[in-house]
Amino acid sequence: NRTPLIAGNWKMNLDHLQAVAFVQKLHWTLKDAKHEDGSVEVAVFPPFTDIRSVQTLIDADKIPFALGAQDLSAHDSGAYTGEVSGAFLAKLDAKYVIIGHSERREYHSESDEVVASKVKAALKHGLVPVICVGETLAQREESGPTAVSIAQLETALGAVSASDDIVVAYEPVWAIGTGQVASPEQAQEVCSALRAVIAAKLGDEAAARTRILYGGSVKSANIASFMREPDVDGALVGGASLVVDEFAAIIRFEK
Ligand code: 13P
Repeated sequence: NRTPLIAGNWKMNLDHLQAVAFVQKLHWTLKDAKHEDGSVEVAVFPPFTDIRSVQTLIDADKIPFALGAQDLSAHDSGAYTGEVSGAFLAKLDAKYVIIGHSERREYHSESDEVVASKVKAALKHGLVPVICVGETLAQREESGPTAVSIAQLETALGAVSASDDIVVAYEPVWAIGTGQVASPEQAQEVCSALRAVIAAKLGDEAAARTRILYGGSVKSANIASFMREPDVDGALVGGASLVVDEFAAIIRFEK
């Protein structure tokens, strides 16, 4: 009963002109696909500078894609040079915001506490946080497959209440952009542990309702195997979300 979510994290790719051309092409390629009837939700996460252009296109052409940002500030407004407020994103009809992506944790030193404060800011502004968790290979070898993701999610949920809408993305760092995809069983193991964290913190109803995505080298050739797993409710796609035919084929997955 959870609507699958196929999300494209473009990272720092496509300027606003390329973004508009891409979304138009993707929309045409997906004519008559099942996302048109709402049985699959599609979301794109462009760079900040593209969001207004993509919003205008989606709105004008009634394209059934949700829009999200790749990050936000923990603050509402003020002297925070270079930051972008959740309030501004909400004004652009962004529905989602990715928080705690491993690239931000690594290159921008985002701690679990920073992630938690950004989750709080997203919810405050009516955005659905897509909370990213996942272990490095060294961490997997040292503490097993689930410990790091569980700890990251527990902290991230600090200011979340049972009625809040959230999405969780399990992205093992060793599988991101490496072509070394996790097995469906590995993804299921962690996603199921994360659902148990949600149940313990927010209750069974929230756990049953919350979508948990897998991310890391998702392609059209492997998406179905993940979607067959009971606790994997979609995918957060990086590289393959930048290729129209490939992303369209992922959206058209058949279990
Ligand atoms: P790739 O699909 O390129 O491995 O990236 C995954 C990711 O980081 C999505 O957020």
